[in-house]
Amino acid sequence: MVGMSKFFEEHAKHMSCQALGIHSEPCLEHFLRDMPKYVTSNFKYFAPLCLLPIVIDWRNLNKKKIRQRLEYYFHCSTMGVTIGYIINCLICLMRKGRFGIYHFVFIPSFIGSASVHFLASARVIEFFETSIFQCNIETFLLMKKFLISRLIFDSKILQTYIFMISSAIILQGKLLYNTKEFWILESNSQPKEIENQENCKCQLHPNMGCQQYLYQGVKKYFLLGLTLDILKSVISTVSAKRSSQSKRLDLIKNFQIRSLALFTVNVGVYRFTHCFLNKYIPGCNSLNHLLSSFLAGVCYTFYPQKQLFAFAVVHAIRTLWSIIQIENANTKNTFLRRLLHAPIGRILFPFGVAHLVHIDCLKPEYSSILGSAITNAITNKYPLTGRRQIELVKQKVEATYKNRNL
Ligand SMILES: [Zn+2]
Ligand SMILES: [Zn+2]
Repeated sequence: MVGMSKFFEEHAKHMSCQALGIHSEPCLEHFLRDMPKYVTSNFKYFAPLCLLPIVIDWRNLNKKKIRQRLEYYFHCSTMGVTIGYIINCLICLMRKGRFGIYHFVFIPSFIGSASVHFLASARVIEFFETSIFQCNIETFLLMKKFLISRLIFDSKILQTYIFMISSAIILQGKLLYNTKEFWILESNSQPKEIENQENCKCQLHPNMGCQQYLYQGVKKYFLLGLTLDILKSVISTVSAKRSSQSKRLDLIKNFQIRSLALFTVNVGVYRFTHCFLNKYIPGCNSLNHLLSSFLAGVCYTFYPQKQLFAFAVVHAIRTLWSIIQIENANTKNTFLRRLLHAPIGRILFPFGVAHLVHIDCLKPEYSSILGSAITNAITNKYPLTGRRQIELVKQKVEATYKNRNL
C-alpha cells in the first residue's frame, strides 16, 4: 500500500493536471472553458437554499422582500463562484512549484476562501461561516479521533442533551439579549412588568388564552414542517434518474414526517411549558423561559441527525459569543476589548473551508453529506473528480509496485 503523503511526494508531484486526469485540456484553456460551469453549479446549489423562504412565506410577500431575497441569492452564488474559481486556478498554479499533499487542495482552498471572505456582505458571510463550521463539527464527530467525539457520535441521549442545552442558550439569548441567531422557532416575547402577582395569569399573550396561543403556534409550525417535508420529498424524487411512474411511487416513499414532527413538538413543548410555568410560578419569566427552551430541545429525538446537532451547536456558540460581547461592551480591559472585537469567525473561516475540501477530496469517509454538497457545488465537483482520479492513479502506481515485487 502506498500512503497518500508518499504518493503525492513521489508521484503526483511530477504529474500534470492532464496526466492526473483532473482536466483533459491545458490549464489556461480549462480556466476559460469551465467558468460558465462554475456559475451554473453555484446558482443551482444556492437556488433552493436562498429562495425557499419565498415559497414558505408566500402569504406575507411583497416586492421589497422578494427583491431582498433575490439579491441575497445573487450575492451567495457570486461569492461561491469566486471562491470556487480562485481555488481551481490556484490548484493548477500550485502544481508548477513545490507540490505535496497539502498543496493539492488545502492551501488553494485556504487562500481562495481567505481572499474573498472580506468582500461580501455580513449576512452572506455569516451564512457561509455557519454552514462551514457546522460541516466541520460533523466531520469532527465522524472522525471519532477524540473521546468526546466518540461519546457524542455513539450516544443519541448525549446528542439530545447537548441539543437541549443549545436550544436553551439560543432562545434565552434571543429573549434577554435580542441576539439575531437563526433558530427553528421564534422566541416568546418578554412580558411587561407584573404588578399584582396574586391575580396574575399567563402574561405572554395578553390578547388570547393559553390554549389559543398554543394552537396558533402548533398550527403555524405544523404547516411549515409539512411544506418542508413535501419539498424535500419532491427535490429528492426529481433529482433521481428514474422513469415518471417510478418517480410517482418514489414521491410517496420519500415522504417522511421529519420536519413536521420536529417543528410541532418543538413549538408545542416550548409554548406549553412556558405558559404552564408562568401561570403557576409567576414573576420568574426568565427562569421559566430557560427551562421551557431547554425542554423544547427534546424534539431532537424525532429527527436525530448529526447535521441538525451540528447546526444547533454552532448557533449556541455564536449566541454565547454575542452575549459575552454585549455583557462586556463597556469593559476597560484593553486585551478583552480587542479580543471581543476580533473577527474570529472570519479568521477561522479559511481554515474551515480548507479542512472541508481536503477531507472531502482525500478522506471522503469522514465527509458530511452537507460538507460534500457545499464543496462540490462551489468548486464545480472538484473534490469528486479529484478523488476519483487520485484513486485511479494511486491504484495504477500500486499495481506497478506489485508487478515489480513479483
Ligand atoms: Zn490544471
Ligand atoms: Zn400562556
